[in-house]
Amino acid sequence: MLDLAWIREHEEEVREAARRKGMAFQVEELLDADRRRRALVADVEERRRARNMRSEGVARCMREGRKEEAAALQEAGRREGAELAALEPRLAAAEAALRKLLLETPNLVSPDTPHGASEAENIELARRGAPPEFGFEPLDHVELAERHGLADFARGAKTAGSRSYYLTGMGALLHRAVQQLAVDRLLAAGFELLEVPVMLRGGAFEQTGFFPAGEDQVYALAGEDLRLAGTAEVPLVAYYAGEVLELDRPIRLAAASACFRSEAGSAGRDTRGLYRVHQFAKVEQVVLCRADLGEAEALLQEITGHAASLLEALELPHRVMAVCAGDMSAKTYKQYDLETWMPGRKAYGETHSSSLLLDYQARRAGIRYREADGSLKHAYTLNNTAVASPRILVPLLENHQQEDGSIAIPAALRPYLGGRAKLEAP
Ligand code: AMP
Repeated sequence: MLDLAWIREHEEEVREAARRKGMAFQVEELLDADRRRRALVADVEERRRARNMRSEGVARCMREGRKEEAAALQEAGRREGAELAALEPRLAAAEAALRKLLLETPNLVSPDTPHGASEAENIELARRGAPPEFGFEPLDHVELAERHGLADFARGAKTAGSRSYYLTGMGALLHRAVQQLAVDRLLAAGFELLEVPVMLRGGAFEQTGFFPAGEDQVYALAGEDLRLAGTAEVPLVAYYAGEVLELDRPIRLAAASACFRSEAGSAGRDTRGLYRVHQFAKVEQVVLCRADLGEAEALLQEITGHAASLLEALELPHRVMAVCAGDMSAKTYKQYDLETWMPGRKAYGETHSSSLLLDYQARRAGIRYREADGSLKHAYTLNNTAVASPRILVPLLENHQQEDGSIAIPAALRPYLGGRAKLEAP
């Protein structure tokens, strides 16, 4: 959420952010709603002031024995009381309309964010590692998983429907190994690991900018005011809602959690295998810092670097993309994606997404800190994937397959797999 007073002074910047993000949001509607609410507030206040003066007048008339005048004033007061009572629901409705539009207002876009309407216009900033050149016909991860007994898609579909799977044998162990590797690396980098709730109230989604936009991505639990989080960013940021923090140093939080997504709008896309599924596991990085753009930019590089160095440890070719405005969500100010080479797709596929949100989430969630001069400010928030699995198993299996049918295990993962260096050919 942006500051309403700021929006009044910077209407054009908000209009431009909505335009660049390809959103239908109209800042005029927000400003009209703001004017309507302010006019109603002024009207209510004026009537309250008049009512109070009239009550004082009634008391004065009574004291001075002017009973008829007092009765006339009382009658006028009653009429005005009824008018005031009628205004209150109108004011509540105007406040609700304004709040709805404020929640829909997009975040600004950083000056260095590329222009563009979709993923195709993201800009490659760096490339690390070269895609492998196989001297044989490589298999895709579904064929590899089936040959090595790593996943069971048929039973996944039987028990849970489309985009569902079981991980089996070494598949389940690899899934846990990549997550534990990511957690250990974040702990070494000074992150605090939290075990988080993934069934959360709607308020937590609203505070973190996942509602109202994105509500269709979230599963609701029947009969409960609880929804299933699509990312630990929701519980990690909402953790501090309504609090005043000590932010002399940034707060670095991590969580490994189950993530649930309806994938509404993705019908027919990536339906094969483990790439786009309804339930997956993600180790997430969340950082809260002072409202200092220089510090926040450095932290964005830091959390993006954690993801890139994990991909290096997994010996996976990848590239860093500057995400264009049209491919960013409403809440994001600046975003990098990491894309990892996936031989089965003959393309890079997104495996990590690193975002800076300025104070957009903290303003919604009421997360503040005290500056050295004693003033209270909203914090800046950032987040990035550390690893998401099973999507990461797609490049892991596909890039490390060998001609003899075995799959090599990168050295960094071996300690988590009893020292195993490869999955033997079936
Ligand atoms: P996001 O939280 O949307 O930025 O996504 C972070 C990462 O989670 C992505 O880069 C993917 O690696 C993974 N991910 C997101 N959605 C899915 C999905 N439906 N299935 C599997 N992995 C996903």
